[in-house]
Amino acid sequence: MSTTTPTAITTSTAVTTAPVTTPSAATVHDDECGTYAVARDRSAVLDALIDEHAAEDPARFRMLTGDRPTGPLHIGHYLASLRNRVRLQDKGVETFVVIADFQVITDRDSVGEIGANVRGLVLDYLAAGLDPERTTIFTHSAVPALNQLMLPFLSLVTDAELRRNPTVKDELTLSDGRPLSGLLLTYPVHQAADILFCHSRIVPVGRDQLPHLELTRAVARRFNSRYAAGHSVFPEPEALLSEVPLLLGTDGTKMSKSKGNVINLRDTADETADRIRAARTDSERRITFDPNGRPAVANLLTIAGLLLEEAPESVAERIGDGGAQALKRVVTDAVNESLAGHRARRADLARDPAYVTSVLHEGNARANDVADRTLATVRAVMGMSY
Ligand code: ATP
Ligand code: MG
Repeated sequence: MSTTTPTAITTSTAVTTAPVTTPSAATVHDDECGTYAVARDRSAVLDALIDEHAAEDPARFRMLTGDRPTGPLHIGHYLASLRNRVRLQDKGVETFVVIADFQVITDRDSVGEIGANVRGLVLDYLAAGLDPERTTIFTHSAVPALNQLMLPFLSLVTDAELRRNPTVKDELTLSDGRPLSGLLLTYPVHQAADILFCHSRIVPVGRDQLPHLELTRAVARRFNSRYAAGHSVFPEPEALLSEVPLLLGTDGTKMSKSKGNVINLRDTADETADRIRAARTDSERRITFDPNGRPAVANLLTIAGLLLEEAPESVAERIGDGGAQALKRVVTDAVNESLAGHRARRADLARDPAYVTSVLHEGNARANDVADRTLATVRAVMGMSY
């Protein structure tokens, strides 16, 4: 087992060679609530550290992200998360991507088309540029030792703590009056197992997920102090905040793969045009970027701006008095042109299902190696090696 004391990325050797002054890791670690401003500053520091050191020491910045296989990925996933994963992988960050198949049943009665959904996610990952040689893509149901970590982790949290988790509360609100299942209540702990089994140091999150990551950090801290005599069996991972706002779907609510309001990565150019044509806007001819006053128009400008690498205000300026029709044309062209390569690669990959299977098998085997070692350490420090 590791005998080092718990350290954060800035206090590790990566930083000895590249000192950073503000803000210190301690600022983040001492602040249980993790205010947005501090997390924002800390993410900027992390980004700079990654630029400088990831290539020479990939494990120091090991990153875990993932998705639930509840349906096809949409442009919200592409812009807020998938592109960023590829960017970090290409900088040398050691990347793990969990397909969280057990978490599909946190808020629904059946797993649905789980096999097809899992394979669809893999196709989008590969088409976007995730490289299975460098990135471990795995399904957590295939990694028993990861799931077993949930048992000691559950002993480290209270039910009151779980009940006040804002993410759990939000998910419960979205699930249309369903009673709170034990899995939904405890899924932040399951997520802690996803993050900690591979000792990841970085977890890209949206602003709303900061409290979630705080729980993982608490689990790591409490495990180390309660069961490992203060040794750093688990590092406390840090949030890397996404710059991308939550994109709205064509109905004006959060774009979500469980709703019919998405522009899917796998859609054809014609399907994309149809979906965008049906998107909600307003009747004002002059196009302006006003997220509070005109959220639907601002959302379309944001999508175009992110894809064209242009400020949304400047996209609005170009469209001027063209109205919603011109705006939708600009967005449709931006989506279809930006995604043409992705879609062509995805279609090619889809012709080789055996390859997709081999990527999953390989990723699951690697994740199992890592999880088995972590569980062996956990059992050893807990005196359970018989
Ligand atoms: P579901 O409807 O099944 O909950 P979803 O579309 O909300 O699916 P998730 O798998 O829950 O997708 O989300 C995974 C991650 O994808 C989120 O944490 C977030 O980072 C990102 N994401 C999802 N939807 C959006 C969106 N509309 N805008 C920006 N990012 C998004
Ligand atoms: Mg969701």
